[in-house]
Amino acid sequence: MKDFIRIRGISKTFGDFIAVNKVDLDIGKGELFSILGGSGCGKTTLLRMLAGFEVPTAGSIEIDGIDVTHMAPYDRPVNMMFQSYAIFPHMNVAKNIGYGLRKEGVAKAEIARRVDAMLELVQLVDFKTRKPDQLSGGQRQRVALARALIKRPKVLLLDEPLAALDKKLREHTQFELMNIQDELGITFVVVTHDQEEAMTLSSRIVVMDKGEFQQVGTPKEIYEFPANRFVADFIGTINTFEGIVTAADDETTSVYSDEAGETLIARGKQLFEVGQQVEIAVRPEKIFIDKERSTREGDICLEGVVDDLDILAIARCIGFALPQEK
Ligand code: ATP
Repeated sequence: MKDFIRIRGISKTFGDFIAVNKVDLDIGKGELFSILGGSGCGKTTLLRMLAGFEVPTAGSIEIDGIDVTHMAPYDRPVNMMFQSYAIFPHMNVAKNIGYGLRKEGVAKAEIARRVDAMLELVQLVDFKTRKPDQLSGGQRQRVALARALIKRPKVLLLDEPLAALDKKLREHTQFELMNIQDELGITFVVVTHDQEEAMTLSSRIVVMDKGEFQQVGTPKEIYEFPANRFVADFIGTINTFEGIVTAADDETTSVYSDEAGETLIARGKQLFEVGQQVEIAVRPEKIFIDKERSTREGDICLEGVVDDLDILAIARCIGFALPQEK
């Protein structure tokens, strides 16, 4: 994959507070890349530096081979879609979408043609003449997206694009966003604090904490091979067992855990030394409970006593029947 955005040694300090601390990052052309982290970790500051709204304290940013570190936002080949969609309440959908082109003085017929193409893309053809207050949250979000895309930026920056939508609509819109990105091939950089959203949407993710990168990788890499405890905890849930390494090679590490009363085996690229004190982490979906001891090869069995039952978890396991709709 060709590097399209190259970030080198970027830092941003506010007074003596370090919001982003010397980070390096390469993003490929056409990627849907997410910056993921908790509140205040520096993700919006990083996005704002890409957009040109914040000047880095140190480091450089290159987009498509051009150093944009000190370039004004309007000179960069990027567009940003803000957390609050900032669409004009007095303009109808078509006018909102065509706003940027009108400001640039593009010919009327060309604007009409490109607005129609955008309406088609975001599936709002029938809503063309509606005002924003006559739209649902998801439809408003799509107007904002169309308005940001109509100028054909090389990079679209999206700050929590789905935060204002309820859970169901958010899930639906995630897929729309992915389809649109796929269709246009524009590089998307998305800021989100929602782990599930990042895992669903992204080609790759960076997990940030306290202004630093904890891990950069595909959703699968980050979930299956978290670089450290922070990432393992932040993405999904883990159960941990303390133990001592009894054997290790390039692919697996065996850990005897007193707590588990068994030797547990972990896959992983990291090499530990025999005798080292470690923690082994197991994702909940890799654990099955049965009254009988499993005889399947490779299974590791631990004995235990059921302590508590979560009714929601039971419902998820056994499912439930619904009456058929007439
Ligand atoms: P959230 O999800 O809450 O929006 P974030 O990861 O996007 O968080 P940033 O907005 O990047 O966080 O802020 C990172 C840190 O920098 C925060 O502690 C914030 O208070 C601080 N910060 C951001 N902008 C400024 C500013 N202009 N002056 C001083 N401190 C700032």
